[in-house]
Amino acid sequence: MDRDLYSIRMRAEHGGAHCSGAERIAAAGELSALAAELVARALSAGSAPPDRIHCSIDRLTEKVLHRQLPDVKTFAVPDWTTGRACARALLLRAGVAPVAVDAAMTWLAAGPAPGGRVMRGAMIIDAQTGVRLETDPARGVRVSRMDLALAARQPVSAALAAAGLGHHRVAEALALAGKVLAAPGLVAELCWSDAPDYLSGYVADPLHGYQRITRLKAAGDVFGGRALFVRTNGWQLEEFVAYLERQAVLFDGLGTISPPQEWEC
Ligand code: AMP
Repeated sequence: MDRDLYSIRMRAEHGGAHCSGAERIAAAGELSALAAELVARALSAGSAPPDRIHCSIDRLTEKVLHRQLPDVKTFAVPDWTTGRACARALLLRAGVAPVAVDAAMTWLAAGPAPGGRVMRGAMIIDAQTGVRLETDPARGVRVSRMDLALAARQPVSAALAAAGLGHHRVAEALALAGKVLAAPGLVAELCWSDAPDYLSGYVADPLHGYQRITRLKAAGDVFGGRALFVRTNGWQLEEFVAYLERQAVLFDGLGTISPPQEWEC
């Protein structure tokens, strides 16, 4: 029963640039503790304290969809250049054209927001041409209103921890990718964090699920972000953004978690 659920969103900025964010769904009774946890996270993210922390809470009034999280695979790579070659190969296999892969990687590496900054949300990229489609290149699209269902939190956390994937970032990225993979026209997603000490990232596509890559950037690198590649035939930007920002999705369980495998170029 999904009664009295709320979307709780946090995002923090420093020097006008995004530095931390989170999107969760919780019952009324959990909101105070969760808000405190997310504010504490914002305060400890990055080397300098945030200038502003936004925390917003909205009651969910529309139907909540229930889904399974994607399967998880891990590709172990010795360094970030091999990691990006791995990501490139996985994106090509998913159907993204080379020009679009190269454009996305160049933007992520340089800071995809105007002025070479990190975006608050994700780029939306035409999977054939590499053209960016989001209306606001500083904000992008912020995927929101997704989380593990209450009953799934403990078993999913335990399964991820047993596989050495217990960091909260993995569970949150899996929920985000799980929502993104069901978006209309979605071909694949590429992500690496802007946090200078979080070096892994992933490629997700509807057929192969969530494919972690152990290194996608060098230690200390402050650039990162997300690219959502779409098939634009008969596709509507408004419908895509409305699904990602407004449709609430709760995940009831996890698919398979495969043991890490070495990436062979
Ligand atoms: P993170 O994985 O939190 O380090 O985020 C890495 C990058 O992904 C951020 O700099 C944003 O550009 C983007 N991002 C983070 N959260 C979201 C979200 N909820 N929706 C879309 N993009 C996001």
